[in-house]
Amino acid sequence: MPTYIVLIGPPGVGKGTQAKIIAENTGLPHISSGDLFRENIKNQTEMGMLAQSFINKGELVPDSVTISMIQNRLNAPDCANGALLDGFPRTPTQAKVLDEMLVQLNGKVTYVPYISAPSDTLIERLSGRLTCRAQGHIFHGKYNPPKVAGVCDLDGSELFLRDDDKVETVRHRIQVYTNQTAPLIEYYRQRDLLVEINGARPIEEVTSDLLKVLGTKQE
Ligand code: AMP
Repeated sequence: MPTYIVLIGPPGVGKGTQAKIIAENTGLPHISSGDLFRENIKNQTEMGMLAQSFINKGELVPDSVTISMIQNRLNAPDCANGALLDGFPRTPTQAKVLDEMLVQLNGKVTYVPYISAPSDTLIERLSGRLTCRAQGHIFHGKYNPPKVAGVCDLDGSELFLRDDDKVETVRHRIQVYTNQTAPLIEYYRQRDLLVEINGARPIEEVTSDLLKVLGTKQE
């Protein structure tokens, strides 16, 4: 049966960073709804234009757009053994839809690691976060600085501050998370899938706990 990992946690907790590492360790494709939207915005697709105004305000993109984007991605051949989902589902409604999509794919949600951290930590991390233009690799001015300022260590592209990582938008995103996404915690707890991990620690410690949860040996 395919393995589907749903990584949940507030914005800035390190989901994206951890997802990239975990995807490499498990060989599962990393599906980040935020990255998919940003790619569509960069390529100025119709979907990208539609999503952009919501994203820049820190609001959720409407379900009609988000769900079909994820459904297409999960049906791609590289997801035959499952996937690591980062940023989707973001509401209990999306979680129900995901359950239905996975039934169609003869699977179900296998693990739900929930990475948590206090709001102050999230604001500090997000407002110092640097994202790579080419592939979305993530750095931080203070906690995970690139070797050369402004340049991605991994692919040499420019690092930039996402529009939605500006302090005012960050505060709003955390509020949206509390109102709309936090109920997911209960959804998965009731299904006995949730495992909480303290995200207010160095990257390596969080990774090590995640790999333990997933039952994968660290390389
Ligand atoms: P992220 O990179 O996960 O922080 O996502 C960036 C932005 O993309 C979010 O603030 C939302 O505007 C939008 N987004 C990402 N995933 C979803 C989703 N599952 N549902 C609705 N909007 C989303």
